[in-house]
Amino acid sequence: MLKGLLIILSGPSGVGKGTIRKRIVLDESLNIAYSISMTTRPKREFEQDGVDYDFVSNDTFDQALKNNQFLESAEFVGYRYGTLKSRVEALRQEGKNVFLEIEVNGARQVMSQIKDKGLVTIFLMPPSYEDLETRIRKRRSESEGIIQQRLKKASSEMSLHHEYQYVVVNDQLDQAAKQIIDIIHQRIDALKE
Ligand code: 5GP
Repeated sequence: MLKGLLIILSGPSGVGKGTIRKRIVLDESLNIAYSISMTTRPKREFEQDGVDYDFVSNDTFDQALKNNQFLESAEFVGYRYGTLKSRVEALRQEGKNVFLEIEVNGARQVMSQIKDKGLVTIFLMPPSYEDLETRIRKRRSESEGIIQQRLKKASSEMSLHHEYQYVVVNDQLDQAAKQIIDIIHQRIDALKE
């Protein structure tokens, strides 16, 4: 049986990864399952535990790390995030195309472990740094200190876009989502060859 694709979407905080991911997951022709991450970050107002993330304590995260349960994990602006191996593997074996929305250090860990043609890596770029700053500020869910840290982190993340197979600019949401959907369709076809 064919294994599904493992699709990584990275990009700076505020670029619109979450919005694009939600659209892509709804496209049934892509047969995608989103792998929910574990995080120690506090839940934002509109987030749901078990849907957006598994929100866990530091102890629970430590335990999972100790038991080697993560495919990758990273720290991002003071909190920890990780992808559970068991979740990804179960979905891939079912033939699902698994979607990970993760930051660059975690993406690098996956790239170094998985070399087969089932791995698809996409970096989502904002049209400009100014645009990104506006988007992060609009979210208004974080303090100025955190916003500054996320902006600093965004610059360093963007400088690594060349490590990805595809770079998509999120200038216009519909177009960016369509480009990503087209990429996934191409790679689904390539996997069958
Ligand atoms: P946020 O706190 O804004 O939800 O996420 C912060 C960053 O962590 C985003 O770039 C997001 O894509 C990334 N992220 C979310 N889950 C994971 C994960 O499981 N692993 C890694 N490495 N990054 C993650």
